[in-house]
Amino acid sequence: MNFPEQAEYYPLISITDDHFHDECGVFGISNHAEASNLVYLGLYALQHRGQESAGIVTVEDRIFHCKRGRGLVADVFKRHDVDRLQGRFAIGHVRYSTAGGSATTRNLQPIVVDTAHGGMAMAHNGNLVNGVEMRRSLERRGSIFQSTMDTEVIVHLTALSRCRNFPERLVEALSQVQGAYALVALDEHHLIGVRDPNGFRPLVLGRIGKSYVLSSETCALKLIDAEFIRDIEPGEMVVIKGDKVESFYPFPKRKRHLCIFEYVYFARPDSTIDGVNVYESRKRIGSRLAVESLVDADLVVPVPDSGVPAALGYAQKANIPFELGIIRNHYIGRTFIEPQQAIRHFGVKIKLNANPSVFKGKRVILVDDSIVRGTTSRKIVKMVRAAGAKEVHMRISSPPTTNPCYYGIDTPTRKELLAASHSVKEMKNYITADSLAFLSMEGMYQAINGRADSGYCDACFSGNYPLPFPVPELDPQLTLLQEG
Ligand code: SF4
Repeated sequence: MNFPEQAEYYPLISITDDHFHDECGVFGISNHAEASNLVYLGLYALQHRGQESAGIVTVEDRIFHCKRGRGLVADVFKRHDVDRLQGRFAIGHVRYSTAGGSATTRNLQPIVVDTAHGGMAMAHNGNLVNGVEMRRSLERRGSIFQSTMDTEVIVHLTALSRCRNFPERLVEALSQVQGAYALVALDEHHLIGVRDPNGFRPLVLGRIGKSYVLSSETCALKLIDAEFIRDIEPGEMVVIKGDKVESFYPFPKRKRHLCIFEYVYFARPDSTIDGVNVYESRKRIGSRLAVESLVDADLVVPVPDSGVPAALGYAQKANIPFELGIIRNHYIGRTFIEPQQAIRHFGVKIKLNANPSVFKGKRVILVDDSIVRGTTSRKIVKMVRAAGAKEVHMRISSPPTTNPCYYGIDTPTRKELLAASHSVKEMKNYITADSLAFLSMEGMYQAINGRADSGYCDACFSGNYPLPFPVPELDPQLTLLQEG
C-alpha cells in the first residue's frame, strides 16, 4: 500500500481575508517591439486586482500567440513564455475569482478566438447584468460556450456581427449588453479600449514613445515609464491602429457611476482615478473619520495593508501617535497546511500578528477599510486584546456594507454581510470592540472629492443600484453562470 506524503495528512486551509474583491485588471499596448514584456510588467503592477490567474495574448502577421495560467503573474510567465509571445500588439489580464470559479482553467482570460472575420482577443474587468439572459439567447441560436465568463457573451456577439470592421462589430456587440466593463480587445489591425456608459470600472490611456497603453490603473503606467494621457471616459471607445488613436462615443449617454470602492479599498494607493489620487483620498477619509468619531486613546493602529493611509489621516487629525502595531506577513499564499494540533485563530494569525510591545496597557484605535462578514475583525480585536491592549476602538473608513455588488466585484450574499442584519451596536458586540464607528456617506464623498453625489456607484453602502440586475438567490443557475 502506498502512503501519501506526510503533509497530505494535514488539513489545507484557505487563507481568505474578509474583504470585497476586485475581479480583474486589464492592460494593453500597441505597436511596441517589446509588447509582451511590457504587458507582463503591467500585469505585475495590477496584481492586486486579481491573483487567481493571468494571461497575455499577442498578435503578429495574423497569428495570435497566447499564454494563460492559474496563479500569480510571476508563476504563470517564465522568460521563455514572454519571449515566445511575438508581436507588436498585446493585451493581458489578471483575475480574481471565487473558490468555485477558480477550480476551472476554462475561465482564463484573455479569450482568443478565430471568427469568419479573422482572429480576435478580449479581456474584461466587470460583470454584465444581462449576461445570463444574453447567453441563453445565444445558446438558443446555436452558440456553444466554453467558459462561464460573460466576456464570452461579448465575444460571441462580436463574432456574429456583420459590420464591416472590428471596432464596428464590437460596438454592435456592446450595444446589446448592459453592465460593468472596462475592456481591452485586439484583432490583427486594432487595439481597442472601452469603458461602459456608467464607467463603473476604471480604464486609462497612456503612451510610451509612439505606442499607446491601456491600463486599469495608472500605477501600471509608472512601472513601464509610460506617460499618463487621460482616463477613458464612461461610454468611450478608443481605437488604436498603427501609431494613431481615435476616440468614439457610440453608446447612449448614461450618468457616470464610477465604483466608489476603488478609492476605499480596490485600487493601489499610488494610482490616480478620474483625477483623484487614491492615497490622498484615503488619508482624507481617515481625517474625516477622526472628525466624525473621535475617541480618547493612546495609539492609532492600522489593520494592514489597506487601513494604513486612513489610519495615518486619522492619527494626524486627532493628534494621536500612529504605530504599526499589527504586522502583516506578505509572503503567504492563499492556502496553508495547518498543523494537526489546533491553533486558535490560525487563519488570521498566519497573516497578521499583533506586537505586544506596542499594545501593552494601551487604549487603541484600530482603523480598517470595511467590515464584510465581521469574522476577521472579531479575530483581530481579540488578537490585539491578547497582545495587552486595555481598550480597543474600531474605526471603519467607509459606511456599513449592507448590500452585495452585481457589477464585477466578488462579494458575499446579502445575508452574509454583517451590516445587512445588525445595528452598529450589535456589530460592536459581535466583534467584541469597546466601541465601533463607521464613516458617514457624506463624509466619504466629502473626503474623496469634496462633493456629494458626483457620479459614483455606492450601492453596496446605500442599496441604490444604478442598473437593475437579476437576483441570483432566486435563480440558482444564474449563480453558476456568473462565476467569472
Ligand atoms: S456596488 Fe459597491 S463594489 Fe459594486 S460597483 Fe457599486 S460601489 Fe463598487
